[in-house]
Amino acid sequence: MSASRHRLFRAGFAAITALGADRWLSPLARGRGIILTFHHVRPEPPEPFAPNALLSITPAFLDRTLTALREHGFEIVDLDAVPDRLADPAPARPFAVLTFDDGYRDNLVHARPVLARHGAPWTLFVTSDFADQRGRLWWIELERAVARLDRVTLAGGLDCPARNTAEKSAAFEAAYRALRAVPEEILLEEIAGLCRRAGFKPGTVAGELCLTWDELRTLSRDPAVTLGAHTLTHPMLAKHDATIAHREMAESRAQIEAETGRSVHHLSYPVGDPTSAGPRDFALARDLGFETAVTTRPGHLFADHAAHPHALPRVSVNGLHQTDAALASLLSGVPFLAWNRGRRLNVG
Ligand SMILES: [Zn+2]
Repeated sequence: MSASRHRLFRAGFAAITALGADRWLSPLARGRGIILTFHHVRPEPPEPFAPNALLSITPAFLDRTLTALREHGFEIVDLDAVPDRLADPAPARPFAVLTFDDGYRDNLVHARPVLARHGAPWTLFVTSDFADQRGRLWWIELERAVARLDRVTLAGGLDCPARNTAEKSAAFEAAYRALRAVPEEILLEEIAGLCRRAGFKPGTVAGELCLTWDELRTLSRDPAVTLGAHTLTHPMLAKHDATIAHREMAESRAQIEAETGRSVHHLSYPVGDPTSAGPRDFALARDLGFETAVTTRPGHLFADHAAHPHALPRVSVNGLHQTDAALASLLSGVPFLAWNRGRRLNVG
């Protein structure tokens, strides 16, 4: 996401709260519930060059988020409760679900104590390869490679200087945009090449940042924690054939169940935007018997989503906007009126 788009969001959040739109439009915009997306939770301030900073919030901001949910009248519930909540003809209060993607150790170290203090249930979506301490967290590899390199070149033709923070940010944006447009095999190979040129081995980030199966087994015994599937290798499923997509979903669920002894009912589509998870993938998740499957398409949940439990939108708690104004806007649902052009469902 570009810096200018973030500036626009910041201005939008400020305008929404300054106008009071989060209050007067909320009856229209706020749905029955909301599923929040988190990635990293860690106290360290980001480096000057931190293109993935949107994926990281502090424990203090997680605490503010949970407090804001309560202040805005949300009841924090487990993902298991969502189908019934959507089908309820006369819900008393809006609900909120807390989801964490990828299985980062900082969720255990820094998020869990905050969540426990609030008595909040939460769901952790686990990628098998990452728990195996391998696989490719390619967006972090790309960040680390660009941080170390003075020049970023791709076989596809990109050639950008990367000598200072501004150049690195521009080079990351350009490489990210170019690589998201090509087949995933090429994205992975190009980033592996950048890692090697930057002097480190690709495929080592998970061993540093992600929870092991032992840690996940322990976590799975916590009644506040639900483990969900986030595939075997974290592919953009829609870019692969149906056999691969089916195997990624089914076998990741089977592995989490075998490792923890707990049944798994929920799926999160990796990356989760329309280029990564589409109608074919929603149908596969349904046919595999998942109760819900979540995307990263932005939006609140409405009663109509009861008919589309395998294409649920979520609201990302963005590390670049760790403010009360941003929270009030997201919880009001008002930003999504414009974002989804008035469409509440956004499941096509
Ligand atoms: Zn993910």
